[in-house]
Amino acid sequence: MTQVARASLDQALSPGSIRKKRKVVTVLGARPQFIKASVVSRAMARTGRLSEVVIHTGQHFDANMSDVFFEELGMAPPAHHLEIHGGTHGEMTGRMLVSTERLLRSECPDCLLVYGDTNSTLAGALAAAKLQIPVAHVEAGLRSFNMAMPEEINRILTDRISRWLFTPTEDAACNLQREGFAEASIISVGDVMYDAAMYHGAQMSAAQALPAGLGLEPKGYVLATIHRAENTDHPRRLEAISDALVRTHGTIPVVWPLHPRTRSALMRSGRLEALGRQLHLIAPVGYLAMVQLERNAALIVTDSGGVQKEAFFHGVPCVTLRDETEWIELVNAGWNRLVPPLDSAHVAVEILAALGCSGQNVQPYGDGNAASRIVERLARDLNA
Ligand code: UDP
Repeated sequence: MTQVARASLDQALSPGSIRKKRKVVTVLGARPQFIKASVVSRAMARTGRLSEVVIHTGQHFDANMSDVFFEELGMAPPAHHLEIHGGTHGEMTGRMLVSTERLLRSECPDCLLVYGDTNSTLAGALAAAKLQIPVAHVEAGLRSFNMAMPEEINRILTDRISRWLFTPTEDAACNLQREGFAEASIISVGDVMYDAAMYHGAQMSAAQALPAGLGLEPKGYVLATIHRAENTDHPRRLEAISDALVRTHGTIPVVWPLHPRTRSALMRSGRLEALGRQLHLIAPVGYLAMVQLERNAALIVTDSGGVQKEAFFHGVPCVTLRDETEWIELVNAGWNRLVPPLDSAHVAVEILAALGCSGQNVQPYGDGNAASRIVERLARDLNA
């Protein structure tokens, strides 16, 4: 970091310094991060106290995994696009680190903002921390307690080097307290995904169509999404999931928007073509179409973090095909049942048993104003 940037940062963080607009660099790269950023970026623009420069790492790059979200959710195109994807985790993260550092040195921001737990999150946070640029982590404190997950490694390391830990739930804040983080750095704001569901849900027309040509009836189908490496990269698990969904389709139609990683894994296993005849496989859809599919589903089957919560936001029961979940409050409240995908018959039984179930009336994700709280806190601490 240059001396000038250092001096400007010291001034920004010193109490009583003159207020001026401060610069935030946001690093993002994956589908759920575009959705989370859509509400925080809007709140930032609304205050007029922070200016934002977005770096898109390129981790997700297909039009239906990236561009559609910027267009649909009214987001400005990123100022910088690194176009980094593919390769091993280390290679991808390393290339992102090098490129992000270079940009941070020229942008000289007052703080860096990252979301969630992807390689883009870790690379952005690490580049900034090494340049002494303070890091804000949105969705801090989540833990699966499974270090075999790349996401768990990314989120723990990012939390460790962040100055602002914006937590979505009480449980996340407790995790950070247990790990010894300073109370002042743990800021409970609620979940920006809930903000997004409220905000974009209210903008959507009720007439937003369900995908055409599948004959889907409201509350007459199961929606499935699968993308975690722990499922896609383990042939036995992926087979158990596919077989369970085919069995389910015998009772109630199953529609499955296929994540590119899952599509590749099914292609490698030689299963893709047959599956396309056995249930409704479709390409990934934009956020608004996804919300419409979620709202109208009788049940959601997923291994996605975001989709587990969205099922709850829309009052739809959920089966999560994983060994553990970071969003344990939904399991405790009866909205979500955790089913490790080991045996297809067992998974199918659990899916059918969850149809028509609902959980307790709880509100663990705040009040839909998490984004404003994040922006307000950053602006205050940066003397903007
Ligand atoms: N999503 C979407 N289209 C799809 C599948 C998912 O817009 O075809 C949205 C979904 O509504 C949620 C987010 O993507 O907001 C979840 O992202 P993902 O499952 O990729 O990641 P995770 O939440 O597990 O980190």
